[in-house]
Amino acid sequence: MKKQAQRALCALLAMGLLLSAAACGAPAPSGVYESRRPADEMSTHTHTWQDGVCDVCGAQCAHVWENGVCSVCGLHCAHSWENGVCTICGLACPHDRHDAETGLCPVCGLAVEHRMVNGECCRCGAEPQFVMTPNDYPGEVLSAIPEEHGTLDTWHYFPLEGEVEPGERVVKSRQDKKIRELVVYTPPGYDPAQRYNLLLIAPGAGHSAHQWLEKTNRVNGLHPRITGRNLLDSMIAHGYTEPLIVAVVEYYLHGAAELVAPVYEQDLRQRVLPFLAREYSTFASVGEDGVFVPAPEHFAFVGVSFGSMMGWELLPSCTDLFSYWGLYSGGFQDNDEMIGRISEGVDETRPIHYLYAGDGTMLDSWHAYFNRFTALTEGCPDLEEGKNARFFPIKKTEHNYADWNISLFNSLQLFFQNRYEPGVDTPFAAQKPEETPAAEAKP
Ligand SMILES: [Zn+2]
Ligand SMILES: [Zn+2]
Ligand SMILES: [Zn+2]
Ligand SMILES: [Zn+2]
Ligand SMILES: [Zn+2]
Repeated sequence: MKKQAQRALCALLAMGLLLSAAACGAPAPSGVYESRRPADEMSTHTHTWQDGVCDVCGAQCAHVWENGVCSVCGLHCAHSWENGVCTICGLACPHDRHDAETGLCPVCGLAVEHRMVNGECCRCGAEPQFVMTPNDYPGEVLSAIPEEHGTLDTWHYFPLEGEVEPGERVVKSRQDKKIRELVVYTPPGYDPAQRYNLLLIAPGAGHSAHQWLEKTNRVNGLHPRITGRNLLDSMIAHGYTEPLIVAVVEYYLHGAAELVAPVYEQDLRQRVLPFLAREYSTFASVGEDGVFVPAPEHFAFVGVSFGSMMGWELLPSCTDLFSYWGLYSGGFQDNDEMIGRISEGVDETRPIHYLYAGDGTMLDSWHAYFNRFTALTEGCPDLEEGKNARFFPIKKTEHNYADWNISLFNSLQLFFQNRYEPGVDTPFAAQKPEETPAAEAKP
């Protein structure tokens, strides 16, 4: 008895609401439309949509777009693209494909970058253009070096103490033997309003931070001497890498790599990386509480020679800081230990998107590094040859910057682009839409 009374009251309230809605001209709920036909024929009906128009009453649907499809009438948007966004439904083009030559998206017409998944572009199947001997550089990279250079800033710091400070370039005799240099390259047209990927370089033992960017190399017999800065400027100008920040960070050499690396890691975490995030426009940040917030998808670590040996020490414990690693001409000792440490350091939130190892083949020592690396990728479940790990033997080079510049050239075509997706075999094939059988004609 009591329930019936409640239901009656609810019905009355609902009718009142409908009446007041009609009285103030509020729109009817979607799908219900008041007919313009005589009231005796129909007062309200549920629209039967055909291409956005109601079959029964001729009403036009006021489309509500969700992912390019109207959620009211089911119409698929015909799309009118402007800068990769549809001006009708607001959908952003996903650029699933692009032309390998022109980079143009066949759907929206915009030129889009390669997007590397597991070592190849999932938009066109292209692989990076690797250089394997000094004669392999694409011609324009060495012959058309832009006149506008990136900027080099010099900073100083002391291991395990104080903050990074502006400094002069240190020449041979360092007044304070512990003073370390930090040289930062910002690309031509650097704009603090944008964010940039950052590549950190640990130089070889006893090498100054300036050598990497300013030492000139005869890269092959045909081209004039160039510097690391020339190479970066040219790679950016010719589209081999997006503009980026490069920081060469010295360390205090006081013993073997396993002794130096923990000190370096502390310096990176406590002073160098927070300083770079504050001073330069990277994807990392420092919160109001002073805590450094890393952005490993946008940070790469490169080590050469002793710096590479340190890189191997740092990799397992620093996957929260860097997801791209370039370790040139310097290996590690114990394979089983390295597999165990990498397994501990890597998970979905701390991936290795690419581990590039390289060495010059004019020195016999490259064999040992190659064999160790091969055994590692075979035994380590977090590394897959070709997908997020690969060894690059560079012919006609030895233990010098000519070799390391080539590895930098190769690395920068993978770093910040290649995403590692475990279990995905050939991303281009995997992304291909399945063959859909021809739709059956409706009776
Ligand atoms: Zn209708
Ligand atoms: Zn609609
Ligand atoms: Zn659209
Ligand atoms: Zn597109
Ligand atoms: Zn592509």
